[in-house]
Amino acid sequence: MQKFHFELPELGYQLTDLAPMMSRDTLSFHHGKHFRTYVDNLNQLVDGSKYEGLSLIDIVRKAPEGPIANNAGQVLNHTLFFEQLAPEKNAKRPTGEFLFLIEQSFGSFDKMIEQLTKAASSYFGSGWTFLAINDIGELKILSLPNGDNPLRYNLKPLLAIDVWEHAYYLDYQNRRRDYLKNLWLLINWHVVSCRVI
Ligand code: MN
Repeated sequence: MQKFHFELPELGYQLTDLAPMMSRDTLSFHHGKHFRTYVDNLNQLVDGSKYEGLSLIDIVRKAPEGPIANNAGQVLNHTLFFEQLAPEKNAKRPTGEFLFLIEQSFGSFDKMIEQLTKAASSYFGSGWTFLAINDIGELKILSLPNGDNPLRYNLKPLLAIDVWEHAYYLDYQNRRRDYLKNLWLLINWHVVSCRVI
């Protein structure tokens, strides 16, 4: 019998909770179809390979470029993405030490959002824009292609912004900037700040 190691994480909110910024259709396709396919692919690829039994993070760190790295990266990136979202009324702004870190690195929260928006809107092709932290506590913004992840560059991912068209096409067609503008309303920065440790 085939062993399945990885499961599709459940959403911490209802499919309609993020509308109108992110519609039920977008969430249901993105989580229920795209994300599920990455999980299924990863399970099939890992089964019987030398990566069987490793944690997702270890696979992301160790697998050389190729199908296993791509699918493991996409599973981790989507886990971060969906976990950090919240209905607008529950989306908390950064506070305390995390806000201090942001101010140290970018001057202010608004300036950080400006830089993240610029990086994510100008990234060419399918990929992700991340807020990440290095081992001396500096925050970094970086964009990476396909399913790549900051862990592969000794950075810890804190916030993962999906800029693949499938993340926004149903609601915004090619208007990635509009998707990003509305996405900021749905980020629970408390969840993001908990990833620092
Ligand atoms: Mn996606």
